[in-house]
Amino acid sequence: MQERTTNVINGIEILAYILKPETVLIGIEDNKPKAADALRDIIKSKALEHLIQVVVIPTKYPSGGEKQLIQILTGKEVPSGGLPSSLGIVCQNIGTAYAINNAVVKGEPLICRITTMTGNACAEPKNYEVLIGTPVEHLLKISNTDIEKTTRLVMGGPMMGFTIEEIQTPIIKASNCIIAATKEELPDPAMEQACIRCGMCTEACPAQLLPQQLYWFAKSSNLEQAETHNIADCIECGACSFVCPSNIPLVQYYRFTKGEIKQANADKQKSDRAKVRFETRLARLDREQAEKEAKRAARSEAAAKKQAEKKAAAVSEPTISTEQESQPAIDIEKLQKKFDATKSAVAKTKEKITALESTEPKDDSKIELMKGALEKAQTKMKDAATALAEGKKIQIGMAATPNNQTQGSVPEAAVKSPAE
Ligand code: SF4
Ligand code: SF4
Repeated sequence: MQERTTNVINGIEILAYILKPETVLIGIEDNKPKAADALRDIIKSKALEHLIQVVVIPTKYPSGGEKQLIQILTGKEVPSGGLPSSLGIVCQNIGTAYAINNAVVKGEPLICRITTMTGNACAEPKNYEVLIGTPVEHLLKISNTDIEKTTRLVMGGPMMGFTIEEIQTPIIKASNCIIAATKEELPDPAMEQACIRCGMCTEACPAQLLPQQLYWFAKSSNLEQAETHNIADCIECGACSFVCPSNIPLVQYYRFTKGEIKQANADKQKSDRAKVRFETRLARLDREQAEKEAKRAARSEAAAKKQAEKKAAAVSEPTISTEQESQPAIDIEKLQKKFDATKSAVAKTKEKITALESTEPKDDSKIELMKGALEKAQTKMKDAATALAEGKKIQIGMAATPNNQTQGSVPEAAVKSPAE
């Protein structure tokens, strides 16, 4: 805020351009007067007093928390489980405003952050601009930290920070501070005692929670009651742990319980999704089965209908076999005439032979000639008789067969060759 004031105000202007707020309040604790003055100067030089105001607030932990700061600056309380946006408020920190200016004006992504290196084991405590991903070991090295004297390495502030065991731990976007503490500075936590129900934790809680109750619920893994008592509103400030005369690490219980609740909710969502998937699958299988049944029934119905139509057609008009259909029309009259003609020819030839045999002198050559002709005429007559008989047979067969019967089914006795 002191060194890069213009960039911070530029970032605020970009935010204001996007969000169109009625007013912008910058809350600064009263132990940072230089920062407040620097910001006021830039605001004045840019003639932004109508939009942006610097509000100095008492230095009282944890006034930097989002909900607490909103209440101090506006007097409005963010509802439990709600967001500041539900009150028409957006709360951003100075680092975000600075990063927005870098991103929009310089096209520079968030690749580094300001991290405070401090602690009694650190020879050069100060703020460092550190690339994200840098190992903590590198910070310890450039700040001439005595590793031997460091008994606890804390990432974050003294109240909300957590101990890191590995010096290769990387700096992340949220790494605002590294404390290389000596034994005197941060002694080992005292032995945890039983809760004496003194109520000091309740008085200290800035979120108006019941830390003692939450402790019991956390200890008994009663996640439902912990949720009912708004454990989600705990900002993990550590104030309750700090004042607890029984040295109960209350905030550690809450962190663990919050993690359990998160996991339980994730598991529930997962099982709900699996249940929905399972039920959807069952419904789909039922639907497919029903569709199959309907198609099968429709096919059976169509087949039955077709069968019935066939039967009805067969009863009303006898069918003619393919063989019969292809049979040419038989002219019995013509066959009869041919037979009669050949028969007559045979009779005349016989008469002529008789006449020749009775004529003297006999002409044997003529008689032989006529006999040859008679044989031919008889053969022709026989052929004509056979053709006539066959024709009659077929004609009678066609007339006598009602359905699917062939000529072969006509009784032999029904037709007799005229020659026989
Ligand atoms: S401060 Fe500690 S001992 Fe007192 S009521 Fe809270 S948890 Fe119990
Ligand atoms: S850590 Fe303790 S004091 Fe802080 S908000 Fe949570 S319950 Fe309240």
